[in-house]
Amino acid sequence: MAVKERLLQRHIITDASCQFCGVGETVIHSLLDCVIAMEIWNLSEYKDLLNDVPRLNFVELWSWLCRKVDASVLCAIAALMWAAWKGRNMMVYQGERLNGVLLAVGFARLVQDYNTYAEKVLLPPSIHGPAAATVTTVKKSFGTTLKITEAMAVRYGVMLAGRLGYNSIEVETDAVNVVAALKSSKSGVSPI
Ligand SMILES: [Zn+2]
Repeated sequence: MAVKERLLQRHIITDASCQFCGVGETVIHSLLDCVIAMEIWNLSEYKDLLNDVPRLNFVELWSWLCRKVDASVLCAIAALMWAAWKGRNMMVYQGERLNGVLLAVGFARLVQDYNTYAEKVLLPPSIHGPAAATVTTVKKSFGTTLKITEAMAVRYGVMLAGRLGYNSIEVETDAVNVVAALKSSKSGVSPI
C-alpha cells in the first residue's frame, strides 16, 4: 500500500505526515485510525476487537486476527479496511470527502454479493488453485521477480472481475513498471 511511510522510504516524498491528522501515515493508521477509518470502525461491531489488536505492523495485526476470529469475520474486516483505504484515496487524490459509513456498507455488500455468487458459481478462491499454479509456473519460466508476480496478480484480478460480470474496474498497484507495461500496449519479449 502506497502510504506516506512507504513513499518516504522510497524517497518519493519528503514528509510522511497524514495530511488529515498530522501523525505519521502508516498502513495501520490509514486502515484503522485515519478520519474515514475511524468513522467506519466506531460504528462497527469490531470496534472493541480492534482496540486490542497489536499495532506494530500489519502482518502482526492480521496474524493476530486470524487466530482470534473466523473466516467470515476476517472477510468482513477486510472489506471495511478496503473501504477505509478507498475513502482515504478519494480524499487524497480526488479531494472528495465520502461518508465512511455509506462507503463501508457498499463495500460490505460487494463482498457479501461476491461470496454468495462464488458459492453458487465459482470454486472457492484458494492459494493452491489455478492462479497460484500459474504464478508458480511463470516464476519457474522467467525467474522469481516481483514484477512478474505483481503482473500475474493483476491479471488474475482482471479475469476474476470479468467472470463476475464487471466491465469497469479499478486496479490498484504500486508496481510502476507493471502499470507502464500494461499502458504501453506493446508486444515484445517481456514476459509481462
Ligand atoms: Zn490520518
